[in-house]
Amino acid sequence: MDLTFSPQEIAFRDELRGWLANNQPDPEPTEGGEDAHYAWRRDWQRRLYDGGWAAPAWPAEYGGRGVSLTESAIYFEEIGRARVPMAANVLGLLLGGPTLMVWGTDEQKERYLTPILSGEEIWCQGFSEPEAGSDLASLKTKAVKDGDEWVVTGQKVWTSGAQYAKWCMLVARTDGEVAKHKGLTYFLMDMEQDAVQVRPLRQITGEAEFNELFIEEARIPDANVVGGVGNGWKVALTTLMNERAGLGFALQIRLRQLLDDLIAVAAERGLLEDPLYADALAELHIRCESIRLLAWKGLTDVERYGQPGPEGSLVKWLWSDTNQRLTQLAIDIVGPEALTWGSSWTYEWLRARGNTIEGGTTEVLKNIVAERVLGLPRLKVAAEMDFGLTDDQREIQRTARELLAERAKPERVREHAEAATNDDALWGELCELGWPGIAIDERFGGQGLGQIELSILCEELGRSLAPVPFLPSVMAAAVIEQDGSEAQRERWLGGLAAGETVGALGSALDGTAELVIGGAQADVFVLIEPDGSGRLLAREDAEVTPVSSVDPTRSTASVSAADGSGEALGEGACAGLGRALVSVSSELVGVCDRALGMTVEYVKDRKQFGVPVGAYQAVSHRCAQMLLETEQARSTAAFAAWTADSDPEQLAEAAAMAKACASSAGREVTATAIQLHGGIGFTWEADLHWLYKRAQIDAALLGGAKRHRARLAGILAERLGASAAV
Ligand SMILES: Cc1cc2nc3c(=O)[nH]c(=O)nc-3n(C[C@H](O)[C@H](O)[C@H](O)COP(=O)(O)OP(=O)(O)OC[C@H]3O[C@@H](n4cnc5c(N)ncnc54)[C@H](O)[C@@H]3O)c2cc1C
Repeated sequence: MDLTFSPQEIAFRDELRGWLANNQPDPEPTEGGEDAHYAWRRDWQRRLYDGGWAAPAWPAEYGGRGVSLTESAIYFEEIGRARVPMAANVLGLLLGGPTLMVWGTDEQKERYLTPILSGEEIWCQGFSEPEAGSDLASLKTKAVKDGDEWVVTGQKVWTSGAQYAKWCMLVARTDGEVAKHKGLTYFLMDMEQDAVQVRPLRQITGEAEFNELFIEEARIPDANVVGGVGNGWKVALTTLMNERAGLGFALQIRLRQLLDDLIAVAAERGLLEDPLYADALAELHIRCESIRLLAWKGLTDVERYGQPGPEGSLVKWLWSDTNQRLTQLAIDIVGPEALTWGSSWTYEWLRARGNTIEGGTTEVLKNIVAERVLGLPRLKVAAEMDFGLTDDQREIQRTARELLAERAKPERVREHAEAATNDDALWGELCELGWPGIAIDERFGGQGLGQIELSILCEELGRSLAPVPFLPSVMAAAVIEQDGSEAQRERWLGGLAAGETVGALGSALDGTAELVIGGAQADVFVLIEPDGSGRLLAREDAEVTPVSSVDPTRSTASVSAADGSGEALGEGACAGLGRALVSVSSELVGVCDRALGMTVEYVKDRKQFGVPVGAYQAVSHRCAQMLLETEQARSTAAFAAWTADSDPEQLAEAAAMAKACASSAGREVTATAIQLHGGIGFTWEADLHWLYKRAQIDAALLGGAKRHRARLAGILAERLGASAAV
C-alpha cells in the first residue's frame, strides 16, 4: 500500500487547494427553504465546472481532466477538507455519468455528459417502486414499443431530487414473458412532460428530498435506451455499484468532518477525559479511518477491473452504520440542545436513519457480501483483498504461504501444541531463509526490508499458528533496533537476525511482566512499562518462571527484572513499540483470515433441514460481519505497516488504531467461527480453539482494544489542543 504521492499528484493537490482558496462558495442561504438551498448547490457546481473542477476524473472531452484515480481520490479529500457544499447533481455525477461511460453510445455520451457536469441538467434515479424495493427486478413499470418510441406507464417512489431533475435513470419492464431479470430495460426519461407527475414525500427530517413519480404513458425515444433492450438489469447493477463505491468515497469524507466537529464539541465540554466518551470517539475514529482505507482500496479495483466490485458494499455498510452511531453519540454529547428541532445535529441524526436503507439496505448488502464476496451459499472462492502489494511483496506472501501450508500442516501444529513444544525443525528452516531478520538492518546481518514485508510473514504465521517464537523475537528486535544504544544493537541484533538468539517482549508493571510469549526460551527480554519506557534484560539478569498459557503453540513465562537489573532502552518512550504493535496486529489478521476461511468452507458444506447452513441469513450475515471485521483489521494493519516504513511520525496513532481494530476483530471473528461450527466448533479436535486462544493472547499482548482506543483518544485530544494553540 503506497500512500506517498508522486510530484505530479502533489502538484495536482496544490493546484486544487489554490483554486479552492480563491473560489469560495456563497454563504449558505438561511431563507428560501429547500429550493434556495438547492439553487445554492447548483450555483456551486457551475463554478466548479467553469474552473474545470466538477469531476476531474472524467475524460477531458466531456469537461473533466482525465486524471488518475489517485488524483480523483485526492480531489474528494480536498473538496471535503475545504468544507464546500456537495454539488447539486450528485446522482448525475456519481451514478448517471459513470453508467453512461460504460454502457452509453457515443451519441449518448456526447449529448448527456457535459450538461451533467455543468449542473445544467439534473439527474434522478427511478428504480424503486411501491412493491419493488430490495427486490428491484420485480418492478412493474411497463414500457411498450410504439414506432421509434417507448410508451411508459407505472409508478416510482422515493425518487431523490426528482423535483429538480431533467432526466430520470428509469428501469422498466419491456418483456413480461421472460425471467424477471431478463425483461428489464434501462432508459433515460425526460422529466419535463405532462405524463410524468412528481409528488413530494415528506421525510422524517421534515424536508421533502424524495418524491413519488406517477407515469402515465410517458414517451421515451428509442435512442434513449441505455445498454440495449432487455439488458436493464446489468446496466442498473453498474449504477448501483457506483452508488455504493463512488458515493461511499464522497460520503466518508463528510463523515470525517462530522467526527471532527463532534470531537471539538466533546473537547469544549471537557468530555474527552471521560473514559466512556473517549472510548466511543476513538472507536469512531478507527471506523472512519478504516472506511477511508477501504474506499481507497475500492479505487484500486476500479483501476484494475474498470468498475467497482461487490466489496463496495462493505464501504457502504460500514459507512452507514458508523454515521448512525456517530450522530447518536452526538445526541448524547450535545445534550438536550440536539433534541431541539432545527439544530444541525438533529438533522444529521434523523437523516442518518435513511443511510442503512437508501442505495441498498444493510441486510441486502450483507447478502451481497455473503453471496458474491464469500461465495455463500453458492460455492465460490472468496475474493481476497490485497492492499496494493508490490510484485516482490506478493512473491514473499506466496512463498511464505506455500511453505507453511507444507511445513506447518494443522496436524503437525496440533502435535506440538499438545506436547507444548516448539517446532525446532521448522524454526531452523525459517532461520535459514532469513525470516527473523527480514526487517533488521543489513549491517547487523538482516535483510534490511521493511515492516510491510515483516507484517506479511507475521500474517502468514498467524494463519498457520506455526509453533515457533517468530513474533516475540521480531518484536523484541524491533525495539532494540529502534531504541537501543549502538552497543545493545551490536550485542543482540546479529543473533536475533540469524534466529540463534530468541527475543521476547512483554508489558511490565514495576519490572515484572506476567505473561511474556516466547518467554520460557528467550535469551533476551524487552519489558515495556505503562509509560512506554523500555528495559532490556539478558536472560541471566532476569527471573524467568515458565507459565503454561491457554495457547501452548508458543512458550510463555513470567519475567521479572530482579532489583532493577538490565539496561534502560532509549530516552523514555519506545519508538520500536509501534512496530511491535503492527507485527502483532498483522498476526491477528492472519488468525482472523484462517478462522473466516474455515467457517465459510464449513457452512457451505454442512447441511441442516436439507440446505447448507450458510444459506440461512442468520449464518451468512454473521459470515459477512466476520469479513467486515477482518478487512477493517487488515486495512488498518496494512496502513500502520506502511506508516512505519514511510511516515514514522504517524506511527503511534496508526499502530494504536491497528491494534485496537485487530484485537477486537481477533476475539469476535474466532468466537463467531466456533459458534457457526456448532457442536464441532466446541470440540478439541476442531482446530478452531487454537485460533480462538491465540487471538485472546495476541489481543491482550501490549494492551487490548480498549487500552489502544484510550491512547487514540489521548492522541486526538493532544492534536486538538495543539491546533487550538495555533
Ligand atoms: C433517503 C432515501 C433516498 C432514496 N432515494 C432513492 C432514489 O433516488 N431512487 C430510488 O429508486 N430509490 C430510492 N430510495 C429507495 C431505496 O432504494 C429503497 O428504500 C431500498 O432499496 C429498500 O427497499 P424498500 O424500501 O422497499 O424496503 P424492503 O425491500 O421492503 O425492505 C424492508 C426490510 O426487509 C429487509 N429485506 C428485504 N429483502 C431482504 C432480503 N432479501 N434479505 C434480508 N432482508 C431483506 C430490508 O433490509 C428491510 O429491513 C431511497 C430511500 C431512502 C431512504
